Amino acid sequence: MSKRYILAMDQGTTSSRSVLFDESARIAAVAAEEFEQIYPQPGWVEHDPEAIWNTQLETARRVLREANVRPDEIAAIGVTNQRETTVIWERATGRPIYNAIVWQCRRTTEACERLSAAGLADEVRQRTGLVIDAYFSGTKAVWILDHVPGARARAERGELCFGTIDSWLLYKLTGQHATDVSNASRTLLFNIHGLDWDDVLLGHVGVPRAIMPSVGPSSHVYGTTKVLGADVPVAALCGDQQSALFGQTAFNIGDCKNTYGTGCFLLMNTGANPVESRHGLLTTLAWSVDGKVDYALEGSVFIGGAVIQWLRDELGLIASAEESEALALSVPDSGGVRLVPAFVGLGAPHWDMRARGVITGLTRGANRAHIVRAALESISFQSADVLRCMEADSGQTIRALRVDGGAARNDFLLQHQADVLGIPVLRGRTSESTALGAAFLAGLAVEFWPGRAQLSQLTATERVFEPSWNTNRRESEVNSWHRAVTCARSV
Ligand code: ADP
Repeated sequence: MSKRYILAMDQGTTSSRSVLFDESARIAAVAAEEFEQIYPQPGWVEHDPEAIWNTQLETARRVLREANVRPDEIAAIGVTNQRETTVIWERATGRPIYNAIVWQCRRTTEACERLSAAGLADEVRQRTGLVIDAYFSGTKAVWILDHVPGARARAERGELCFGTIDSWLLYKLTGQHATDVSNASRTLLFNIHGLDWDDVLLGHVGVPRAIMPSVGPSSHVYGTTKVLGADVPVAALCGDQQSALFGQTAFNIGDCKNTYGTGCFLLMNTGANPVESRHGLLTTLAWSVDGKVDYALEGSVFIGGAVIQWLRDELGLIASAEESEALALSVPDSGGVRLVPAFVGLGAPHWDMRARGVITGLTRGANRAHIVRAALESISFQSADVLRCMEADSGQTIRALRVDGGAARNDFLLQHQADVLGIPVLRGRTSESTALGAAFLAGLAVEFWPGRAQLSQLTATERVFEPSWNTNRRESEVNSWHRAVTCARSV
């Protein structure tokens, strides 16, 4: 067979990456290139869409060179992307009319407050599964239309295209203007039940339907591209967190993953059922494959691995993130010390934006190892709190947790996670679950792989962390954590 590889384009917030996978889902080559973060004002974040495209294309060319693979050996391209980041470009020329407004950008906070004040929160939650927040794409699009001279009139005339980064890359690759359900469900404009743009919300938020892309499945041939030097189908679009869930082969109801990065992103597959959360979690489209849509519950921990950066950069307690593991293991327990890193408030299940960080339980004998250990434990305690909300909302019992992300390299953290949850924690062989998800979705669309059953066989677990605490120990540790959280909420 001449088509021996799938190329995943993983367009992230700080870098564009390309990963080449072979038929056994092994990595043949990886390339990454960073691009500029643009901060026009405090709290504002932009990217240059052309820099996103150029770095993405360059890394794709580089993996082919490095693996010595010809473009006609690529069976398909799968795209996965930083979510919510918004681009508007001219339909006729492909020229962006403004920089991409990045998901982190807070410039539309006031616009969101106006939507909330108009009493739209319940309607938005029911229709989109989201909360009204500047994070999502809708109000970012409005900002561009209202700040670039003439843009709104041109949008009404159908001369402009709106897209999240998947759409932007697809347009550059194939000239098509489309997105997939997983990305569409992060815009505040997509009806997750009707699976189409919601005219009521387009009206409330102020986005003309004429600029919206068509919405397709996550696994689907959207077109072919010649940019690599041969005709290659673009066969998947999927937001990064959902793609990681797919790459973790979390195909069944109740399957969960946690990505431990700067923050933690937790997703649970809820199958055909869009579960409405009573704990402030988001309801989102996981993916659409083979004519079937799966939903997910999503929750996040604001300060995950970032607490370890804080210990390193602000307190100077450790020289490197890796060192945290040996230090935590140098003491038998945290000596009663708890650290709640509520630096920017607390998310699910507390939703207390006034909470602030605390360290509790200090004694004369408390040393830096205890504090470092307590910091690592805070990552797993916070993740466990989110998972308990998911169980309560969905009525599902979580039987295992699949993990990835930079901080998932820390064995102590994962063992503590298993202990706190009382379930096994599974770390995969590949750290590239996000790219792998996009590769899997693309590979299914072009029948490079026959079905999901085979994908599950291709992914190997590198290590299973089994829970070691009895129920009493687990309850007493979790209660002690929650007492510390109470302190953080009364600071
Ligand atoms: P992101 O994609 O959010 O930039 P990564 O997945 O690259 O994050 O993970 C980086 C985060 O993980 C940092 O916050 C860092 O402090 C943390 N981290 C990296 N290695 C370790 C480790 N061995 N132990 C604990 N935390 C770690």
